[in-house]
Amino acid sequence: MLTAIVGVNWGDEGKGRMVDLLSQRYGVVARYQGGNNAGHTVVNNKGKFILNLLPSGILRPEVVNVMGNGMVIDLKHLVGEIGKLRAAGIEISPANLKISSRAVICLPWHVAQDGLEEDRLGDAKYGSTRRGIAPVYGDKYLKKAIHMGDLADEANLRETLAGLVEWKNLTLRAYGAAEATVGEVLAWLREYGEPLLPYICDTGAYLDAAARRRENILFEAQLGALRDIDFGIYPFTSSSSTLAAYAPIGAGIPGRKLDETVGIMKAYSSCVGEGPFTVEWFGAEADALRQAGGEYGAATGRPRRVGPFDAVASRYGVKVQGADYLALTKLDVLSYMDKIPVCTAYEIDGKRVADFPSGAALMRAKPVYEYLPGWKKDIGGCRTEKELPRVAREYVRFLQGQVGCPVRYVSVGAERGDYLLMDESV
Ligand code: GDP
Ligand code: MG
Repeated sequence: MLTAIVGVNWGDEGKGRMVDLLSQRYGVVARYQGGNNAGHTVVNNKGKFILNLLPSGILRPEVVNVMGNGMVIDLKHLVGEIGKLRAAGIEISPANLKISSRAVICLPWHVAQDGLEEDRLGDAKYGSTRRGIAPVYGDKYLKKAIHMGDLADEANLRETLAGLVEWKNLTLRAYGAAEATVGEVLAWLREYGEPLLPYICDTGAYLDAAARRRENILFEAQLGALRDIDFGIYPFTSSSSTLAAYAPIGAGIPGRKLDETVGIMKAYSSCVGEGPFTVEWFGAEADALRQAGGEYGAATGRPRRVGPFDAVASRYGVKVQGADYLALTKLDVLSYMDKIPVCTAYEIDGKRVADFPSGAALMRAKPVYEYLPGWKKDIGGCRTEKELPRVAREYVRFLQGQVGCPVRYVSVGAERGDYLLMDESV
């Protein structure tokens, strides 16, 4: 069984938490895109963990974790992340972590370039996490990147670097920034690359063999549909494909098809960074929701923009993800609300629109709300659908109808067991 777990919204839907829960049925968990701009929070009996690069399956000792070719890896960050988890008692070895030799290395100059460009843009900035993600993906497509596998051959690496340094300095110079030297980049690669060498392998071959053995493989995405480079809110997207369709490619087995896609959808909206966010709340209303949902970036600590559920954007998210069913997360967060707004359409230039627009039209969209009654009760302890208050069930049913995809799981808390299964009747 090949399953993808993906975000339906802007990211931070609770994918890490759902992968941690569902990974018990999977022998392998593979990340297939993105870098350490992700922040997946997992709370379990061992503590609270924030994972940026490592797949969320790393917290289950029996799971083999793969970092696929579609990823961009900041070596220093990865070494640090592994160190932190080890200090917390998590065992990490080449037996449970495999890094693709084709994954791209995110270098210090990518991080520098990201910050230089955001500063240059000033008020027009993209809201980048400044982790070098856009520059490193840019270089990948310019064919000016270094692969994890290149670390194994230092003579060859030195030669490649000589050309790259000369080229990258053209850009750094234009920004008035410090130039890079081969020695300095090589020293960085050596320091943080060497400890990772035992983990680097052909993850495609590994995954293919695992699929042949009929192992269950879970593909873990970072961010959400609306941040996809092709189908998201461009240019306020990430620089990689966050869609389920990319999972077999980014993990290393492009010839295989997914059996199942699980969409993770949040019971309200949150968004990190710049760009249009139609349902955005401000002031006290926003503060209350942000507080209730603990909406501060896992990777950056930035307060997230928040607002009610956006059915227009989520319907689109479900569609481009090709979700077979959904896990609705953070329903408990809405328990404080008297009535709960749901954006069911946009109004653009005086016209009602039900389909998610692209480009400039989205900038002009205003939300059209319907209001559902609140349940005003702590639902964190609910473990079956029947235990949910009737109006909470109706809220779930309403969202399900709006996005046209069944909700199978409802998450009512951050811990592993804080969830319930919806009956077929809903
Ligand atoms: P991801 O990037 O999609 O993995 O999501 P994040 O980890 O960035 O953000 C989700 C946050 O919500 C984390 O702090 C989780 O611990 C927390 N969380 C996940 N599911 C629930 C839930 O059902 N209820 C509550 N209250 N918190 C949740
Ligand atoms: Mg996150």
